[in-house]
Amino acid sequence: MTISIIVPCYNEEEVINMTNTRLASVLDKMDLQSEIIYINDGSSDKTSSILSTFADEDSRIRVLSFSRNFGHQAAVSAGLQYCKGDAAIIIDADLQDPPELFPEMIRLWREGNEVVYGQRLSRKGESGFKKWSAKMFYRTINRLSDIKLPLDTGDFRLVDRIVIDAFNNLPERDKYIRGLFAWLGFRQTPISYNRDERAAGETKYPLKKMIKFASNGIIAFSRKPLEIALQMGIVTLLISLGLTVYTFISYFLRPMTIVPGWASTLLVILFLGSVQLLSTGVLGKYIGRIYDETKGRPEYIISHDSDSSSSK
Ligand code: UDP
Ligand code: MG
Repeated sequence: MTISIIVPCYNEEEVINMTNTRLASVLDKMDLQSEIIYINDGSSDKTSSILSTFADEDSRIRVLSFSRNFGHQAAVSAGLQYCKGDAAIIIDADLQDPPELFPEMIRLWREGNEVVYGQRLSRKGESGFKKWSAKMFYRTINRLSDIKLPLDTGDFRLVDRIVIDAFNNLPERDKYIRGLFAWLGFRQTPISYNRDERAAGETKYPLKKMIKFASNGIIAFSRKPLEIALQMGIVTLLISLGLTVYTFISYFLRPMTIVPGWASTLLVILFLGSVQLLSTGVLGKYIGRIYDETKGRPEYIISHDSDSSSSK
């Protein structure tokens, strides 16, 4: 049995040595073959050179380098494409998810679970805003989408080969990984843990990226926003029909009263205008996604693979 550890890294020079030591010490204690795949997601600091020294020193380690920064989700997808294990564990490079949980995850896997996902009991060292926004996001996406995302779950998880293959066969390029794993099904079980602080370095997910990531997750898994746009259209149509009737009636009953009505007219126009713009915006989001998918560009491009570099 072989287990693959998948670690996406973007500018992680401050923490990556620590991570590698901890991963190695956990893996050394286990009675399994293992490989560690580091995906260097176009880092501009020393991450790349540090990772190549790891690959030179330890034959279990493989480093895939992207030609530029393609994002965390693409990095994890690449790891899942390239890993050879009977199961893989996805883990962040910043040690927020403890590698010491591996033996327990593997035990649950050996009991027959095909996905073991980490569920956060608490999050240390993250701002109140981040915790609150994460909580709101998971609740919103569950209300909006057809699949149920387990609450407080990130990408830290173990997946069996059968699930990895199913995942790799999905034709979708812009992947929202945790959503897709929930969608795929199979036998899943949670494992609870306390999320630590980032061991060193800064977050690579600033607010702007987080909002993009969250809206992408909703668009990818729900058509509700489109339906809401339609419902708003219906409601405003009914209101304007009511207003028309009212205007006619008051014209015949008391012709003078409707003359000074410019304020209400303006309000109606503004309201309808904003509903229309909003609906067009929602449509645009979906069309943008269709456009991106039809271009058929690859999710990432690998510029260097430590396993095939020796043949040059
Ligand atoms: N990451 C990546 N590409 C990116 C951004 C992040 O590969 O464009 C990696 C990063 O190196 C880390 C993981 O994704 O291993 C999670 O990022 P981070 O810890 O900064 O996010 P946070 O935990 O603050 O949400
Ligand atoms: Mg982190």
